[in-house]
Amino acid sequence: MELGPPRGNMLYSSWRGSPPHRFPNNPMNILVLNSGSSSIKFQVVQTDQGLIAQDGDRCLAKGIVERIGSLSLIHFQATGRPAFKEDAPLRDYRAALDCIVRWVISPESGIEGVASMADIHVVGHRVVHGGEKFSASVVIDAKVVEGIEECVELAPLHNPANLKGIRAAQEVFGRGVPQVAVFDTSFHATMPETAYLYGIPYHLYRRYKIRRYGFHGTSHRYLAYRYRTLGKLTREKVNIITLHLGNGCSACAIKNGESVNTSMGFTPLEGMVMGTRAGDVDVSVMEFLSHKEGLSLPEMITVLNKQSGLLGLSGLTSDMRELLEEERENGDRRATLAVDVFCASVRRYIGAYLAELGGAEAVIFSGGIGENSSVIRKRICKGLEPLGLSLDDSRNSALRRGQMGEISKPTSRVKVHVIPTNEELLIARDSFRAVSGIPQPVYSRRKS
Ligand code: ADP
Repeated sequence: MELGPPRGNMLYSSWRGSPPHRFPNNPMNILVLNSGSSSIKFQVVQTDQGLIAQDGDRCLAKGIVERIGSLSLIHFQATGRPAFKEDAPLRDYRAALDCIVRWVISPESGIEGVASMADIHVVGHRVVHGGEKFSASVVIDAKVVEGIEECVELAPLHNPANLKGIRAAQEVFGRGVPQVAVFDTSFHATMPETAYLYGIPYHLYRRYKIRRYGFHGTSHRYLAYRYRTLGKLTREKVNIITLHLGNGCSACAIKNGESVNTSMGFTPLEGMVMGTRAGDVDVSVMEFLSHKEGLSLPEMITVLNKQSGLLGLSGLTSDMRELLEEERENGDRRATLAVDVFCASVRRYIGAYLAELGGAEAVIFSGGIGENSSVIRKRICKGLEPLGLSLDDSRNSALRRGQMGEISKPTSRVKVHVIPTNEELLIARDSFRAVSGIPQPVYSRRKS
């Protein structure tokens, strides 16, 4: 790939934070960035008001740079074109983003209508923690960056990486291209006190904001949106339980279109058993372990975040597909145990949220595991018939990778659907609305 240095974006060079009113009817190309601890995932999404209304937004390209800081793995693909794969030493986020942008605007990528930096109109960032400060997506300015920095103590593993992505984008694009922050926590801002307060002294909440925040909010919000468009429902008619089951896993109880409870808490560690995270654990284990193993607090948090869950239980891997293979081909007992504990923990949340919602119309499966594994969906739903949820085995196993569909029996009172998530789409739409001065969808915030 032979590419010159990125050029400044002249089209937006006068942008200083006031809404550019000329945009609403011109499609915008939004670069959506998800900056992780050593990776940047991206999509280029074309959207505007008309496309949003028709649900016709277009993903022009997507990709990932992994292992930033050493020999990085690059995998980019424009829609309908062959993939571009390469290894290259990319020392930091700035270098990784440079690499992404150079490819996006290059003739090699072949992305229609994107030939220079001026064709990237907005950068939208996934930001994991917005604390109580951010209950909607916002255009990034110095105060917003300060706010995200203040939330670092709440999300020390995630927000610093998100900030690196923001700073890299500011360096690459300059002041001319607006940037938007879309928070994983903001969809859950509607949770009532009864859901977000822990049973600890209230002054600890008042003093330090120790409470449940919830994460994967953009994914749960997307699933609720897609469910309502499929059923042609208004938002207020959506009463469902959404399950995002990937490497990280969370459930969300959605009532009248709003999040009223979710399984992740103060950090993403709480809730269901995950790839490497323990999920719900009695915190007394920490003191016990510190005596028995001589582990420091940070070491124990590492054990709970990185060495637990499917990995810790099986002693093999955090990857669900590999565990199912081990079980199938070698009859590995610990693999079966890990999968069973995982499924039981998801089932427990379905039960809890059916109680919380007073019954739900549907349970939605999503995320790498929820979208792709009929075996796991079946194991999770086993025994839920008395609660009105009956899976249709043939519909469930017939659903192919990436497909959306209903997999419950026609008689099932609680329907079961599989909906592939698409957080990037909502990040792009929020970004478009934020810079166009169009109000974001309103989720009424409960008084605390
Ligand atoms: P992330 O949370 O990092 O975005 P994903 O949503 O991609 O992760 O989910 C990754 C998980 O999905 C892994 O445990 C992987 O094994 C699992 N997965 C993907 N495809 C399948 C499949 N066909 N069967 C079972 N598990 C699968």
